[in-house]
Amino acid sequence: MPLLSVLPKLRAMTTALITHPDCLNHLTPEGHPERVDRLHAIAAALQDFNLLRLEAPMGEDAHILRTHPQTHIDRVKSAGVGPLDADTHMSEGSLTAAYRGVGAVVKAVDMVMGGEVSNTFCAIRPPGHHAERETPMGFCLFGNVTIAAKHALEVYGLSRVAIMDFDVHHGNGTQDLVWEDARILFASTHQMPLYPGSGAASETGAHGNVLNCPLGPETDGASFRKVMKDQVLPAIDAFAPELVLISAGFDAHMNDPLSNLNWVEDDFACATHQLCDLADKHCEGRVVSTLEGGYDLAGLAASCSAHVKVLMERGK
Ligand SMILES: [Zn+2]
Repeated sequence: MPLLSVLPKLRAMTTALITHPDCLNHLTPEGHPERVDRLHAIAAALQDFNLLRLEAPMGEDAHILRTHPQTHIDRVKSAGVGPLDADTHMSEGSLTAAYRGVGAVVKAVDMVMGGEVSNTFCAIRPPGHHAERETPMGFCLFGNVTIAAKHALEVYGLSRVAIMDFDVHHGNGTQDLVWEDARILFASTHQMPLYPGSGAASETGAHGNVLNCPLGPETDGASFRKVMKDQVLPAIDAFAPELVLISAGFDAHMNDPLSNLNWVEDDFACATHQLCDLADKHCEGRVVSTLEGGYDLAGLAASCSAHVKVLMERGK
């Protein structure tokens, strides 16, 4: 019998999971929903997945400066320990955690653009989509997904990058950071009314490059699927992105304590499939997904694993 026939079939790993233990050192006050256990829950849910597992390098100021001014970096660096606002807290490990997050998304773009993997999921915290140009807020310090988009545009010479944000909260920070940049399409589904209050359909960006799809409280995954089909997917398709980024918040899950949407795991899986369809059509399947919210640990773990499972199925 030929030797090869008895070897286990080798399957190339097509999805990278990028994270770092330093992201566990961003500590928030007792009772804060954005807590260390979120990453433990995700790690447990993904532990048996056949992922290429990588530690995030440290991000660099040069990466952040494409998105935030030096004054913002200086403010975060010099904040010390304590609250930046009512929601956003710094502990001794927060700055390093945030720089690991930046490093993770930059590494993810490098790997996907370099063809090392088809897609990536960055399990990082603090999250990023509420951080505005000069304002850390909503648990977020740096606009991770926008930093990833700008890295792809500047380093790889891309012309069009799409960001889809299905976190239950509007990504006001991402919207602020991409508002003037016609090279970036930002599409968001989110509950309205809800924190932070922005994200009306009338907010469309300086170049028509922002698409906001607010959803009413207590709506379920069917509303999300309809708005994806009718608005988000056609907009991304028409934009013909060269890279698809996902702000993957899982707090629209029906059990999430911070919101009132009633999505289930399969809704996240469906959206991931649809975004992979467009990535296949326009950019050889290149998808970089990064964690935003999700505060019910069981709902987060199940939804995140459904999302990553689809990324793995769709990678090639
Ligand atoms: Zn959220």
